[in-house]
Amino acid sequence: MQRQTKIIATLGPSVASEQGIRDLIDAGMDVARLNFSHGDHAFHRQMLEWVRSTADDAGRSVAVMQDIQGPKLRVGTFPGGEIELHKDAEIALAPAPGEVGADTIQVGYENLLDDVLPGHRVILGDGMVSLEVTGRGDGALRARVLEDGSLSDHQGVAFPDSSLSAVSITDKDEVDLAFGKELGVDYVAASFVRTAADVDIVASLCGDVPVIAKIELAQALDNLDEILAASFGVMVARGDLGVQVPLERLPLIQADILERANAAGSISVTATEMLESMITNPRPTRAEVTDVANAVMEGTDAVMLSGETAIGAYPTQVVSAMARICQTVEEGTLPDRGEHPVSFVGDENNIASAVAQAATHIAGNVGASTIVAFTETGNTARLISKYRPEQRVVAFTPNHVTRRRMSLYWGVIPHHFERRDYTDDEIALAASMLRSEGVCVHDETVVMVAGVPPHLKASTNLVKVHRIGELSGGLGG
Ligand code: PGA
Ligand code: MN
Repeated sequence: MQRQTKIIATLGPSVASEQGIRDLIDAGMDVARLNFSHGDHAFHRQMLEWVRSTADDAGRSVAVMQDIQGPKLRVGTFPGGEIELHKDAEIALAPAPGEVGADTIQVGYENLLDDVLPGHRVILGDGMVSLEVTGRGDGALRARVLEDGSLSDHQGVAFPDSSLSAVSITDKDEVDLAFGKELGVDYVAASFVRTAADVDIVASLCGDVPVIAKIELAQALDNLDEILAASFGVMVARGDLGVQVPLERLPLIQADILERANAAGSISVTATEMLESMITNPRPTRAEVTDVANAVMEGTDAVMLSGETAIGAYPTQVVSAMARICQTVEEGTLPDRGEHPVSFVGDENNIASAVAQAATHIAGNVGASTIVAFTETGNTARLISKYRPEQRVVAFTPNHVTRRRMSLYWGVIPHHFERRDYTDDEIALAASMLRSEGVCVHDETVVMVAGVPPHLKASTNLVKVHRIGELSGGLGG
C-alpha cells in the first residue's frame, strides 16, 4: 500500500537546484511550500518552475503552497543589538518608531497602547522572555519582567491575552499574493489569521486558490469553527502557537484542531519542528519519530517540514524518514480502523458526502483495493479521503490544477485523464488505464464514484461496483 499521509516540504537554500528539488520529489514530497517570510520573488519563481518541470519529468503530481508572512509583530532594535532583561525589572514598551532608551522595547504595532491592557502578558523572542503589563505611562506601556532572559534586534513579540485590532495582512502580503497569483500557486497558507473575516481577505486577494488558515494565535483557536467554515483547511502551526499557549497544552490543542478539521471535512496540516534535529543530524530523535507518528494517528492529512528541508544539511533524508514513519504507522494502525468508524463528515453538499461514505463502506464490504473518483474540482476525492478508506483512492480529473491540488489529500493518488461526454465512457477509460498501468489486474473489483451527468460541480451521485475488463456500455476496459 502506498503512503497515505501527505508530506509538505519547505524550499530554501538547501534544496535550491533542479536536482535538489528532484531529490525531494523522489523521496516523497507531495507539496512544496514557498515561505514568503524569506527569499525574494526571483527565488520563489525559480523554485516553482523547478517544481513544475521536475514533477512533470517524474510523472508526479506536486502542488505548490505559497505561505505568506502575515502581520507577525516584532520588536525594534537595541543599542548594541541586544538587551538583558532581569526578573522584576521595570521596562517600557513603546510603539515604534520612537525613542530608544536603555529600558525601552520598541514594538512594531501602532495600537499598542489601546489594545494591550494591564495584566496582559507580553511574550518575547519566541517564548524565551515574558513580561506582564503593569500600567500605562507617557506614550508607552510599563511592564514587569517575569523571568530573566535576553532579547535581540527584530525578534518576535506576542500578546496572547490581548485582542489586537491590527491589520490582518500587510502591504508586503498584498504584493506577495499578487505575485503568487501571477505564478499560479496551488494553495495559499495565511499566517496569523484571527477570524473568518481575515481568511476572507486573503481569499479575496488570491483568486480562487484554496486558503489554508494557519492556527497560530490564541484568538484563532477561540474562533476555530468560523475559521474552519471560511477556509479550505487549517494548519496546526505549532511554532508560533507555542508562544501563545502554555507549551504543555500544545498536544491537546493539536488533537482538538485535527479532530474538528476532519469532522468539518477540511484539510488538516501538522507543522513545525517535526524532525527538527535533522537540520544538523542524519537521523531523527526517538521523540521526533513519535511526534510524527502521533500526528498520523490523530488523523492529520499532511505533515510539514520547515527548516529541515529549507536550510538543513539532510533535506532528502528527512523527507525519506518522514515518509517511512508515516507509512509504517499507517500499516500498523489499519486493522483498528473499523473500531473507530468515521462519523458523517459535515459538508455543504451532503449528497456528495453521503455517496462518498457509502462508497468507502461498499469498497470494504466487497474487498476492493481501489476506489476510483471522477472529479472536476477535487471535491469528490476530498470527501472520500475524509472517510479514511483502507483502499487507495485514484482520482481522475481532466483539470491539471485539480490534479496538483489533490496531492495534498490523504490517501489520494491524482491521475490525469481526458474528459468524456458520458459517464460510461469515463468508467471504461479509467478501467483500461488502471489495467494498462498495472494498478489493477483483469477481473479485479473496484468501486467507482462519479457524478451524472459528468463535469458538473458538486454532482457526485453515483457509485458503480466495477469489474476490470467488464463491458460498461462505452469503450470496454
Ligand atoms: P511559520 O509558521 O513557519 O511561518 O512561522 C508555522 C508555525 O508557526 O508553526
Ligand atoms: Mn508561524
